[in-house]
Amino acid sequence: MSGRIKLVLLLVLIGALSVAVFLGCQAPPTDGRQEGDDAVDRVIKTDEEWREILPPEQYRVTRMKGTERPFSGEFNDFYEEGTYSCVCCSNPLFSSDAKYDSGTGWPSFWEPISDQSIATARDTRFLMVRTAVMCIRCDAHLGHVFKDGPEPTGLRYCINSVALDFVASGEE
Ligand SMILES: [Zn+2]
Repeated sequence: MSGRIKLVLLLVLIGALSVAVFLGCQAPPTDGRQEGDDAVDRVIKTDEEWREILPPEQYRVTRMKGTERPFSGEFNDFYEEGTYSCVCCSNPLFSSDAKYDSGTGWPSFWEPISDQSIATARDTRFLMVRTAVMCIRCDAHLGHVFKDGPEPTGLRYCINSVALDFVASGEE
């Protein structure tokens, strides 16, 4: 084999590897999925469908992993008794019993309402390593979870108001 052919073959190989690595990077994050995920009645829609259904700010936060401005959300300073559900698919996510004032400007909870509520994934955007919180049914981005919450879990689920619906106790 001539040196020229070897060089061409090498370049083709490098090209194929680059494509494989690129495609690998495009795969959606699957780490952090909780057990029991298979039992969840999933809600799957295309990006186009979500864009049509949701108001712009809900779409930006839940489908584009956005964040609402602190102290701007309707549930930040809100302490009625009831259940917070996913604004995209109505999956129950958090109980008012686990809500507390973290002072951060976002609704904060120390635990989800059940293990059928949320999934988590590593989020390394913006030069930070954080744990993103998603709705387990429809993958809506809800916010992040941090390890500086109150007892008994020590967790702080920092959630965007715009990703939540609220159902008052007795109105379920
Ligand atoms: Zn959902």
